[in-house]
Amino acid sequence: MKPYKIKKSNIDRNGRGLYATKNIKEGTKIIDYIGHVITRKQSDENPKFDNNKPIYLFNLNNRYDLDGDVSWNTARLINHSCNNNADYEGKGLKIWITAIKDIKKGEEITCDYGFGYDSDYKQFPCKCRSKNCCGYIVRTESRWRINKKFKKNLRINR
Ligand SMILES: [Zn+2]
Repeated sequence: MKPYKIKKSNIDRNGRGLYATKNIKEGTKIIDYIGHVITRKQSDENPKFDNNKPIYLFNLNNRYDLDGDVSWNTARLINHSCNNNADYEGKGLKIWITAIKDIKKGEEITCDYGFGYDSDYKQFPCKCRSKNCCGYIVRTESRWRINKKFKKNLRINR
């Protein structure tokens, strides 16, 4: 049995998410993040990636990107959370999602989309409803720029 299933998400009300079908231990690989390996030149020239924060585009190295915006990439359904329980990992041309906390059966699997902080951060409101939600999809390291209360957490984490 796969450790995840697709279900209507509580975070993205119009969309879906991945939910744990069993308890998943911290450090466990959950699912591969698959797609088309394209050259950086291709992603630079494709208007599909014009947005500064393409959710499904991953930089693999200085030559290649991974375009995960394909229907057979189930991992693209994973939502962002400010209190994510999983995260992206990669090696070579491969990317996968690993649990960074123990995840209980029935919990939604979430990642940190890793968006930087810049002038258009308000385009991406976060609806994760976790206690530490900063209101926008911005990577952990930059959240203090939106709300000073995150500055303290940042120091502790380091
Ligand atoms: Zn949030």
